[in-house]
Amino acid sequence: MAHRSKRARSNSGSTIGVHEDEPLDEQPSKPQPKPHEKLWYDDASIVLATDVHLYRVHKSMLANYSTVFKDMLEIGTDGGDGGDGGRVDPDRYDGLPLVRMAGDSDEAVSHLLMTLYDRDFYNTHEPTKFSVITSLLFMSTKYDIPSIRAQVIKHLQRYYPVHASERFKASDVNLFDEDAPDDYDFRLLAVAQQCNVRRLLPMLYYECASSSLPSIFKSSDNLDKETLQKILIGREKLLKLSYDFGILVLFPGEDCATAACFRMRRQMISTWTKIYTPNNNDRQLPIDAISQGLLVMTDRDVAVCYECFQKSARARADFKYQFWEKLPSIFGLGSWYEVMVGE
Ligand SMILES: [Zn+2]
Repeated sequence: MAHRSKRARSNSGSTIGVHEDEPLDEQPSKPQPKPHEKLWYDDASIVLATDVHLYRVHKSMLANYSTVFKDMLEIGTDGGDGGDGGRVDPDRYDGLPLVRMAGDSDEAVSHLLMTLYDRDFYNTHEPTKFSVITSLLFMSTKYDIPSIRAQVIKHLQRYYPVHASERFKASDVNLFDEDAPDDYDFRLLAVAQQCNVRRLLPMLYYECASSSLPSIFKSSDNLDKETLQKILIGREKLLKLSYDFGILVLFPGEDCATAACFRMRRQMISTWTKIYTPNNNDRQLPIDAISQGLLVMTDRDVAVCYECFQKSARARADFKYQFWEKLPSIFGLGSWYEVMVGE
């Protein structure tokens, strides 16, 4: 009972963030939203309300970016129902139309409005808050804001690319800041599916499937069974491809003119099958294998003869090309073409 009375007390009052020392006998009531400290303009024409904040902003600004807002505000300010998303309340605030942002978190509304009003708020060349990226993707999809949706997708595509050349080029800026959850690949996968951003799915699946099995099971709470199945089946295929990579790059069954080269290639294949990598996988999966695996075959000072050096380089390049072509199909997504036209 002590727990219950404490909760009721902290929920009382007209604003959130009330203090513990409020009178115990006050009637518990729902916290009222309070004016946002930044998004509150004197010359505004509308007030948006979430459970936490009121945003005094400009109808024209919202309508300019979003067709859903445009339609909603045109209908809504005549007293009708806004339909999808927000709803224009018959009440007014300070004489302005009041729109209740039904189903949207305060954080999502705040991140969207900050992006529209402050050009420095969302910078795609700096590590970004996880909640900013996901909020913007959700809100730009729900309210049909093509400019923001395209900007977020382009940003994410630098980290989850659709072209092999982009994946094998190291990025010098982290996608997220240090507050991002550890399992952000899994969470982003769920968000990309909900927002139908199919082009990000192949590499998101790849990153999830590259995790250790305990991590995959720990992080799969927000994924449906079908998605988890695709991750696990894809992971099996990636492991198989990793073995294939060793055979293709080392061709241990093929003799060559240099005895030392032949010996080394045969010896390396047994090392390759036992390789251990830091992320708890047994093996280097294809992307790591292509860029970091069996580099001994790229170093002619070791024992590789010129013929095998060239042959191995061609095999690595072919493997890379073929792997990238089949990446979406590894996770049941069809071809890259199907991935790109499906959006
Ligand atoms: Zn050789």
